[in-house]
Amino acid sequence: MRKVSIFGATGSIGQNTIDLIARDPDAYDVVALTGGANIEQLARDARRLKADVAVTAYDTRLDDLRTALAGSGIAAASGQAALTEAAARPADWVMSAIVGAAGLAPGLAALKQGATLALANKETLVCAGPLVLETARAHGARLLPVDSEHSAVFQALVGEDPRAVERIIITASGGAFRDWPVSELANATVEQASSHPNWDMGQRITIDSASMFNKALELIETKEFFGIDPSRIEVLVHPESIVHALVGYCDGAVMAHLGAPDMRHAIGYALHWPDRRALPVNRLDLSQLGQLRFADPDPERYPALRLARAVMERGGLSGAIFNAAKERALDHFIARRIRFLDMADMVASVLDRFETDGSHIDAPLSLDNVQQTDHLARQWVDEAVVQRAG
Ligand code: NAD
Ligand code: MG
Repeated sequence: MRKVSIFGATGSIGQNTIDLIARDPDAYDVVALTGGANIEQLARDARRLKADVAVTAYDTRLDDLRTALAGSGIAAASGQAALTEAAARPADWVMSAIVGAAGLAPGLAALKQGATLALANKETLVCAGPLVLETARAHGARLLPVDSEHSAVFQALVGEDPRAVERIIITASGGAFRDWPVSELANATVEQASSHPNWDMGQRITIDSASMFNKALELIETKEFFGIDPSRIEVLVHPESIVHALVGYCDGAVMAHLGAPDMRHAIGYALHWPDRRALPVNRLDLSQLGQLRFADPDPERYPALRLARAVMERGGLSGAIFNAAKERALDHFIARRIRFLDMADMVASVLDRFETDGSHIDAPLSLDNVQQTDHLARQWVDEAVVQRAG
């Protein structure tokens, strides 16, 4: 039996992972499941999958979790330290599907115990790519991509010489506002930004798709994961979300990865890698689809892409700053304190402030430094929001 843990088990990726694992219960020995405020679901899945431990991110919910698990023999724990401890419990395969920078510390702990880390949490590589890769190398652990584009690239690279790769192209649906006049984006509401044309995902990543902050994170993730020069990474708007990524080779050939938009494909590929196993996803019918469209992203509509390019050039802690400022600006947008386009403005101004206001960006890339910088970036976003209101 393979020992597996799922971080962010109650979320969209976590539930899809559980769906796959629960289809073959005899194959898996579930070690840890973690979640946030949805205690009922966490406890239900922990009981169903017979986990050793369930962890909620929130200390205030520990009593509820204990009550929900009473009599099951499953240990209950809470808080960030408990998440990291759970990740250090020996496991063969760990799904990293917490949303946001909070996924970094558990991910590092899982790598340190030598687990294969299935990485849905793109923030891990955005905030600390070189540190994460070095940790994996030092402990003989493996990272596998779960983000659909990166899984697609990974699959299009199988059997090829990495030196023959000329470019990587990741696709983007264009999000909820792809066809809106740019002049109306300023008035976009949280509800409008929270609906995705093709993918059913958590709210935060769905809004990030509308702003293309998600694709911006994925550009950085591509650079870190595949070690490719940023000038060789392209983004292509593809409204149907059928082609997930393409790899262009030095002889002009382009290998594309196609599939129905269902995250269980990428999760399942990472779960069974290096094998391919049957997965319960819809099969493609291209004649039914009729056509696939592609276009370059409009830089005016999606300023996040330009910011990501600057971050990739800058390196150091700029990815951690970028992500933290983005997360905090998103909190304020969801709380209706700022407007849709303010998010990119605030991220840009926080990055500028770090450039002029100290040497943080070039501090060594350690977990402590990432967390301190993350904290400061969020504080500066809060200050900018207060200033704007005042
Ligand atoms: P989600 O919001 O549906 O779920 C997030 C999970 O993380 C939940 O279990 C929640 O309880 C937990 N969580 C939230 N804040 C936490 C904190 N501070 N500490 C610990 N746990 C916390 O998110 P999702 O859509 O499943 O996305 C998870 C990750 O996967 C994100 O990094 C996202 O970018 C990435 N991803 C998601 C999809 C998708 O289809 N949903 C696709 C590609 C990549
Ligand atoms: Mg993606």
